Amino acid sequence: MTRFLFSLTVLFTFSVTAQQLKSPSEFLGYELGSEFTRHHEVVDYYEYLANEAPDRVKLTVYGQTNERRPLLLVYVSSAQNMANLESIRQEHLKSTQGSGSNSKAIVWLSYNVHGNESVSTEASMKTIYELLTAKSAYLENTVVIMDPCINPDGRDRYSNWYNQYKNTPNQVDPNSKEHHEGWWNGRSNHYMFDLNRDWAWLTQVESQQRIKVYNEWLPHVHVDFHEQGVDNPYYFAPAAEPYHEVITDFQRNFQTILGRNHAKYFDANGWFYFTKEVFDLFYPSYGDTYPTYNGAIGMTYEQGGSGRAGLGIITRIGDTLTLKDRIAHHFTTGLSTVEVSSQNAEKLNTEFQKFYQNQNFKYKSYVLNGNKDKIDALKALLDKHKIAYGHPSNSSVKGFNYNTGSNGSMSTSANSLVVSTNQTKGTLVKVLFEPNAKLSDSLTYDITAWSLPYAYGLDAIASTALVNATPASQAQDAVVSSSVGKPNDQAYAYLFDWNSMKDARFLAELLTRGIRVRKADHPFTMEGKSYDRGTLIVTKGDNEHQSDFYASLMDVASKHKVDFTPAHTGFVDSGKDFGSGYVTMISKPKVAILSGGPTSTLRFGEIWHFFEQQLHYPLTVIDDSYAATVDLDEYHILILPGGRYNDHFNGKQLKRLRDWVRKGGKLIAMGGAIDAIDGEDGFGIAKKEVEGDSTENRPSPHKNMERERIKTAITGAIFKTKVDNTHPLAYGYGNDYFTLKLGNAGYNYLKNGNAVYIDRSTKPFSGFAGSIAQESIGESLVYGVENFGRGQVVYMVDNPLFRGFWENGKLFFANALFMVD
Ligand SMILES: [Zn+2]
Repeated sequence: MTRFLFSLTVLFTFSVTAQQLKSPSEFLGYELGSEFTRHHEVVDYYEYLANEAPDRVKLTVYGQTNERRPLLLVYVSSAQNMANLESIRQEHLKSTQGSGSNSKAIVWLSYNVHGNESVSTEASMKTIYELLTAKSAYLENTVVIMDPCINPDGRDRYSNWYNQYKNTPNQVDPNSKEHHEGWWNGRSNHYMFDLNRDWAWLTQVESQQRIKVYNEWLPHVHVDFHEQGVDNPYYFAPAAEPYHEVITDFQRNFQTILGRNHAKYFDANGWFYFTKEVFDLFYPSYGDTYPTYNGAIGMTYEQGGSGRAGLGIITRIGDTLTLKDRIAHHFTTGLSTVEVSSQNAEKLNTEFQKFYQNQNFKYKSYVLNGNKDKIDALKALLDKHKIAYGHPSNSSVKGFNYNTGSNGSMSTSANSLVVSTNQTKGTLVKVLFEPNAKLSDSLTYDITAWSLPYAYGLDAIASTALVNATPASQAQDAVVSSSVGKPNDQAYAYLFDWNSMKDARFLAELLTRGIRVRKADHPFTMEGKSYDRGTLIVTKGDNEHQSDFYASLMDVASKHKVDFTPAHTGFVDSGKDFGSGYVTMISKPKVAILSGGPTSTLRFGEIWHFFEQQLHYPLTVIDDSYAATVDLDEYHILILPGGRYNDHFNGKQLKRLRDWVRKGGKLIAMGGAIDAIDGEDGFGIAKKEVEGDSTENRPSPHKNMERERIKTAITGAIFKTKVDNTHPLAYGYGNDYFTLKLGNAGYNYLKNGNAVYIDRSTKPFSGFAGSIAQESIGESLVYGVENFGRGQVVYMVDNPLFRGFWENGKLFFANALFMVD
């Protein structure tokens, strides 16, 4: 009897609380789906829930965006679980070590990574409300972690835009302005980066802050909510091939269990959906793959809609797709995911443990060698992923040599790095480091190669035996070279190496502080030490105008942790003396970039981010809509980012560009921009004409059409190129370079100035390239400079700033800015 009374009281208390909680519509003051909710209002609703139901909802702020919007995580579970949240987390993490007693399912729902796929955040509010009310039973054994909006800057860019341009009432005619967002759309973050390509590279503040909390939890299930084109039915798991080979049978099968449960609800409502197509599990930097490589069931769900859909739109088949429909679908799959996870909590826990014990990979250790700055840059990335590393105990290692593509050996030094798969993050180590990820199907959605030794420009060996290592120390501070005789502040000049992004950042700050810097265009030796081309020479004589020159220089040097050597004379042992005309002053260029119109938002954003967040150097952004009215003579450098230019520049505009370059301007043309400035009216570069292979004219069954097309495709593969490092565009590099090729466009060599090139038809070192595509990039230019009048045109066929992760390419871009003259 007492027990019965007690239960009644609990039930009564619970139902009162539930009734008291306001639904999103009640709280916001409009029916959910009839407006786009601005981010601060979303934050208000979650704060409201955390205040009203503090026993079941916990709200945390894990960071801030570039535009200072808060990034939220909301934990929702039963009161009992919430009271033990920290111990649940700790027990769960122990299961990565094969122990721990966690029995709860941990489900992480990520909404709105693409800002203009704006239904997700709306759906999240409805989902949490349902979990707290009608579906609270799921939470008895499940902890749900919700990120209501991964990309608040992009989402508000979209919703604010839509609110400004929408008709009243909203117009479902697809031709109306409210369905045409324009160039500066809300998909990406502030810097126009696609956050759903950034999970592994962590170049963006949103990703960097999120990964810290993600690693504190490592959920069993992770869902990334998206939208696709208006006319597409809903997509959910199981994913399409290719699957990366590390994905376990359980991970595959559980996708199907989830998919079938979603299908049950969709079938009951007569809603359309598809599975097993388009969205594969291979490239590691997605919100589905990255969690998968960390033991989760990682999935992408795609609703039809996106920025084009607005509050409602007529689809191709004449139906009206509304925001309310879109909410209903994401709400349904979200709840269904929690339901299935709750039903399978025990299985999820045992299989998660197994995932972390299964690390029987071909290569046991990766050993990396090279420039200390590049090693440090890699260490910084590994630290963010909680990947451990050490220094090799032996002086030499054997195995697969990344540079030759065959077996060999490599001698190591105290600075070499060993990264092994016998660690918690072993699977992720394999995925990020292996020389060539096994591709079960060449028809993939994204790049097919990303191996970190190539991306960071390091020599590397993959060893099938575990390589002994001692724990690595933190990155060392600058070592000031000792000087003989005179104190450092009395030196004639100060010498700095030039071979990394760190050095480029250092130079950028010297220039912005008004310190004058020269560069060595010839190698030289001095006091028994040799110096390469590109060495930075800061002389006292050049900087007499600076009253506190030495203190400023040391301030910048210690801030950037760069080593230097004081020189007490300008007289070199071999090479050119510091007063020689070959030791030229580096100018402090004023740089402009074209945005809008024909440029790609992503390609533009990569450069914008490079200047502001990596190099820290000012940039003027000129939109295409008024570019014709801008006086180019105000700028030393104009950058044309990649994009779809077609015939964007007419004869008159090309003449204007040519006149400006002839007078001394430097034009940097990247990717698709090159095609806009070639030809008779433009500059000297020419695209290669490539004939198709002999099979092309043979009849081929229709069903093979897609297979035929991939013969011409390179969606992202790594090729070895030759480098002329006597050219200023290649200062700081060795004799070869691994480039990430993102397309099949090949350009003939320039008459002069071929700094980086492919010398003959070649297979990729890593990743997939179709047979015809391999032909077209044989004997082709990668990076080069055409001298034109008193100026230059820098061609960048491949994109060294792609998604900000190809660390070893960035110095080419810095060279284009500072070394090429
Ligand atoms: Zn998306």
